[in-house]
Amino acid sequence: MQIALSHRYTESLPGDPDHSRAPRIVEGAAFSYVDPDPVSHPRLLAWSDALGDSLGISRPTTEDDTWLQILSGNARWPGTTPYANCYGGHQFGQWAGQLGDGRAITLGEFINADGAVVELQLKGAGRTPYSRGADGRAVLRSSLREYLCSEAMHALGVPTTRALSLVGTGDDVIRDMFYDGNPQAEPGAIVCRVAPSFIRLGTFELPASRGDHALLKQLVDYTIRHHEPDIDHRDPDALFRWYEAVCRRTAQLVAEWTRVGFVHGVMNTDNLSVHGITIDYGPYGWLEPYDPGWTPNTTDAHSRRYCFGRQPAIAQWNLSRFGGALARLTDDTDRLEQALNGYADEYERASRAMFAGKLGLPDLATESRQHLLADLLELLTLTETDYTLFFRCLGQVSTAAEPASDPREGFLPAYYDEQALRGEAGEALIRWLERYRNEARQRPDAERMAAMCSTNPLYVPRNYLAQLAIDQAEQGDTEELRRLLQVLAQPYSEQPGMERYAARRPEWARHRAGCSALSCSS
Ligand code: AMP
Ligand code: MG
Repeated sequence: MQIALSHRYTESLPGDPDHSRAPRIVEGAAFSYVDPDPVSHPRLLAWSDALGDSLGISRPTTEDDTWLQILSGNARWPGTTPYANCYGGHQFGQWAGQLGDGRAITLGEFINADGAVVELQLKGAGRTPYSRGADGRAVLRSSLREYLCSEAMHALGVPTTRALSLVGTGDDVIRDMFYDGNPQAEPGAIVCRVAPSFIRLGTFELPASRGDHALLKQLVDYTIRHHEPDIDHRDPDALFRWYEAVCRRTAQLVAEWTRVGFVHGVMNTDNLSVHGITIDYGPYGWLEPYDPGWTPNTTDAHSRRYCFGRQPAIAQWNLSRFGGALARLTDDTDRLEQALNGYADEYERASRAMFAGKLGLPDLATESRQHLLADLLELLTLTETDYTLFFRCLGQVSTAAEPASDPREGFLPAYYDEQALRGEAGEALIRWLERYRNEARQRPDAERMAAMCSTNPLYVPRNYLAQLAIDQAEQGDTEELRRLLQVLAQPYSEQPGMERYAARRPEWARHRAGCSALSCSS
């Protein structure tokens, strides 16, 4: 098979002269060469056919397991020189210094069918110079979650890294899942993720923090040159235009997370991409009952820094750290400040357009529509109301005439306590729907309903659904994962026979680990 490779990253940027795996501080380099560590019994657990096809890589089979060996780290594709990236970051608001790919290893840059260069990276492929005291591995539950969610996000139309493969390693990994002093052996796995690059905000923060302006400048020039087709890296304004573009894309991304109810869970600066794509799926979660204060991450349960409602402000804070790093390259910090201010404007614009879309309204330009949205978000907190299902139900509301039956009935699937609909929450819903129908009436029902169905998903990777697929996969059976991936590939279309994947979270899942709360242990 002919697959074209690129070496632009390793050839343009300085590499670490030390090729060993020993944990260390790496200065003056953007990456360190390191090979994945072999595993004992690789087994293919999931595969993205379309993505594989775009790369010219076909699904590994028993007859030809070349790519299974490569994607497990047991073999190397000819011409590639794997490496781990060097970066730093602010974690939970604190500068954490050097982090780097502690368990991710880039296999290389591949040129896809569209002629675009993409980076293929194995997560969980063994220790690197950035592993510090950790093992460089990943457990099946977290790898399956990354695979599932990135493919679901892609189908939802939210910018994201992709996942090509999920491979079980056949080796155990020891993790203390609840951080309670009970480490257990768990099955290990490796995800192969794919992105234009894995360059993060923290990639620039590290050299800036060290006063290494030469490396910082090289990284900025490289990124603009290869990833910003609309900006000439020689333009004196390139730095500002680029920062502006990163701020704008990040605002759009966070608005998209809000649309689908995604909570990243660990929005550290090392976990935000300069491309405005979702990266680093860890203890993420999907909003089920609408609650702006909700976070799936147990490590953050107390301060809730990264809860759903704070994501827009946290992204802005992260971008301000990133801007602070870029400020080392210019005296004109006012221009950086201006670009950062553009974030708030863009988020406001994108989020209004997004919520107008969710409501099926042309825009939120009038005060009455803005109040309608604000009051809805208030209404959703009166009693546990499923964010995803509420908007789907709203998309069925007819404006044609006075409702023949009780308007609350159509919303039963969205309410965790159906009895609550008979009380105050139900009364508030009726009053709100009255106002909504008046606003929505300006547009033909069929048109509005169709538009709402294409912006409000029916199927999202609910936390408990992922956990059920994990439970089975840990027993060696990937059938549930396969079905779930199939349903999530068409998140906006009703799929007969698949109703249970759209249902709100069952009661048993409310407090089960993995179904509503997750630790960072992965
Ligand atoms: P995360 O919060 O998962 O993005 O990880 C933060 C940092 O810890 C990154 O530098 C990771 O590479 C590193 N890390 C996380 N888990 C491991 C592990 N099992 N082995 C080595 N490094 C890890
Ligand atoms: Mg990370």
